[in-house]
Amino acid sequence: YAYLRDDDGYAPLYDDFDNFYIRRLQRRINDCFSFLIRGVPGRTLTILDRYSEDNNQTFKLTGGTTVALNVSSYNYLGFAQSHGPCAAAVEACMKDAGVATCSTNTVAGSFKIHREVEELVATFVGKPECAIYSQGFGTNATIFSALMGPGSLIISDELNHASTRFGSRLSGANIRVFKHNNAKDLERVLREAIAQGQPRTHRPYTKILVVIEGLYSMEGNFADLPSIVALKKRYKFYLYIDEAHSIGAVGPNGRGVCDYFGVSTNDIDILMGTFTKSFGAAGGYVAASKEIIDKLRVTNASYVLAESMSPAVLTQIKTSLLEIMDTSGVSDGLERIERLAFNSRYFRLGLKRLGFIIFGNDDSPIVPLLIYNPGKINAFAHEMQKRSVAVVVVGYPACPLLTSRIRFCLSSAHNKADLDYMLRACDEVGDLLQLKFSSGVAGED
Ligand code: PMP
Repeated sequence: YAYLRDDDGYAPLYDDFDNFYIRRLQRRINDCFSFLIRGVPGRTLTILDRYSEDNNQTFKLTGGTTVALNVSSYNYLGFAQSHGPCAAAVEACMKDAGVATCSTNTVAGSFKIHREVEELVATFVGKPECAIYSQGFGTNATIFSALMGPGSLIISDELNHASTRFGSRLSGANIRVFKHNNAKDLERVLREAIAQGQPRTHRPYTKILVVIEGLYSMEGNFADLPSIVALKKRYKFYLYIDEAHSIGAVGPNGRGVCDYFGVSTNDIDILMGTFTKSFGAAGGYVAASKEIIDKLRVTNASYVLAESMSPAVLTQIKTSLLEIMDTSGVSDGLERIERLAFNSRYFRLGLKRLGFIIFGNDDSPIVPLLIYNPGKINAFAHEMQKRSVAVVVVGYPACPLLTSRIRFCLSSAHNKADLDYMLRACDEVGDLLQLKFSSGVAGED
């Protein structure tokens, strides 16, 4: 890297960008992602066609478009739409409240709808109080500093999202990591952290917070919540669940992993989630006891110091939530949840029958299809796009180098014909790239 030093020996700020791997990562990202889209990213995605004359460093638009079935953005319940009750409500709100609040929650940035959505979310997830934030990432990135610190301990699943890992480090708390979704390994870490053999006696730490996700976004599996809650009763720690992918999408009433496993929300101290996946909106929330939320409202940097949520976005969330929570049968919220559950099982079974190896829980709308060889991930994305299907490819560092995968994010907006079409496309591309690793008998792997 000698050439990356100026005459005084200083490195440029981007010095570690110009290495072999990161340059390749940039090309892969440019090649498979970062395309421009038009219109609403709902059941389909309209991609602006482009070409590159310099090995995927820069692109020019051809003027044409490709309409593809969309399994690449999050739209679990099909609320990211340009028509229907959400769109109408948002339009009405825009006339009344504009695009943004231009202030913070605590200054002049709170409309009545901010409190309404907080109350609705608290009721929906089953906790006494809730605070909402303009960004899900920012919620995780700042909340731990408000609740944890030096002298306390955060125990984190090794596959937790970057936002929680980032936020945990920022808090200054001690951090230990346990093997992904492995309650036995969590118990080992707990036993090492507290007085050996005396599970409930006190320990070198003022408090211990275990941080997990409801549905892991790269693995498509649910947290082993019953086992972790059983450990909580034995070892007395606080439990934080990031439900970014499970809220709305999982459980018979869409209320997340507690709903799915029949676990009481009293057993969870903090239920965090985002509005980006199931509600067709943006932002994050934290639902917990009144005491915790009271503290966050005055000490959590991104609640106090960041711009509060846009009223238009809140209107979208409120309308989606009311649809999901409606039990009178007037709205189709519950139908959307059922359709998503059907789509998840149907598509997963179809892929298994074709001989693909997939990860995750049968009820999970995130479907990772293993292609292993990192050299094939771009080819898979391109072959699928040629067949009008927009998928997400996942390679290192988002997953281990040798378990490269394709991720399908299913939606209740997909119909059975869409799923059959995508299965046929996977069948063809799987043969072309030699990606069928199992016997093809469903349930065998
Ligand atoms: N938590 C998890 C598990 C996520 O996957 C994400 C983003 N995909 C976030 C938090 C951040 O949420 P947002 O995109 O709403 O900022």
